[in-house]
Amino acid sequence: MLVLRGATLIDGTGRPPVRDSTIVVEDGRVESVTAGAAGTWPASAEVVDVAGMTVLPGLIDCHDHLASHGYELATRWELNEPGSTRHLRTARVIERTLAMGYTTVRDAGGLDAGFRAAIDEGLMKGPRLLTAVAIISPIGGIGDRVSPSGHDCVVAADPALPRGVANGVEDVRRVVRLMVRAGADVIKCATTGGASSRAGHGPRDPAFDADEMRALVDEAHALGRRVMCHALGGPGLRLALEAGVDSVEHGCYLDEDPELIAMMAERGTFFVPTLTVYEYHRESKAAHVRERARALQRHHRESIQRALAAGVKVVAGTDAGGHGHPPNAAEIEHLVAAGLSPLQAIGAATSVAAQCLGLEHELGTLEKAKRADLVVVAGDPLTDVRMLQAEERIRLVVKDGVIAVRR
Ligand SMILES: [Zn+2]
Repeated sequence: MLVLRGATLIDGTGRPPVRDSTIVVEDGRVESVTAGAAGTWPASAEVVDVAGMTVLPGLIDCHDHLASHGYELATRWELNEPGSTRHLRTARVIERTLAMGYTTVRDAGGLDAGFRAAIDEGLMKGPRLLTAVAIISPIGGIGDRVSPSGHDCVVAADPALPRGVANGVEDVRRVVRLMVRAGADVIKCATTGGASSRAGHGPRDPAFDADEMRALVDEAHALGRRVMCHALGGPGLRLALEAGVDSVEHGCYLDEDPELIAMMAERGTFFVPTLTVYEYHRESKAAHVRERARALQRHHRESIQRALAAGVKVVAGTDAGGHGHPPNAAEIEHLVAAGLSPLQAIGAATSVAAQCLGLEHELGTLEKAKRADLVVVAGDPLTDVRMLQAEERIRLVVKDGVIAVRR
């Protein structure tokens, strides 16, 4: 049994903070949450005095690429170093992510399911992982790794990652099944280009047709997987929403078609804007990436504000990997800059994120019977959410009731 005494509690529900809380953890779950020293516990319990600090639910990043280590072609195609070195590099990123208070991460492509197994088996420390394994898109889409001439020079650098290229209704169903066979917890697809995709396949350029997308969503749901869809703008964004994807990733040009925001609010489609990655894209060495990222910035912010006003659930996701792995909580800072209150932005990385994963009964708030995932921060993050990015502030990280990191 673990008892945390005296911290100010932000429970993730959106309720205001509670001072001088007592959190009792037993068998991996929250046994009780009370104000003041009202709780009772046996003498054998480990009591940690966290007075003066703030306790939050374990943080969640709903869009990461833990196994990506750069946008350069050789790195992207996994030609720059042996697989063993790359896997150990990924393991280091995963361990650091947990140490910064992130107890759950959804990987949006590139991470094979073996890392999840390694953590579950205790071979390494890391957040609870959900992985999409690889991105599904048609020929020419963001998941299609070919040379500019169309030459397919890298068939399978890593055999643990099935190829995500799918064309036509039957093939789309086949590739969804390949991902699930390879251990995918969620299906990631793309119906538009992006900021960093090849020249000629930009943010408003579509991929997939309506029949393909309906088949993809249908197959994923039949297999019990949610669909997270990379879609920035133009007809591909509408197509994804009409097909019934569960979350829109990026959604930079949602503001150009206000009907879509209403549709998301009505259907409960989550919006994962991934502001962090665009901070880096705007400074990209590649001119076409830089220009796209700068052009979409105003729309992206407008899209978030309209989504919030319409009651769409906005979720924290960094889309880290291509530009390295900055602290995941950078996204919380950027969400505040985009118009969320600090409490809302923390909710986007806790309770709302858990809903996006379909794990709201287990994660995302500090309430009785939930999994005991929590982070203790030295200071009050509501006064400045940037402190969540400072390693020395993250004093205690508990995952499944076990202390994973103590500083
Ligand atoms: Zn991504």
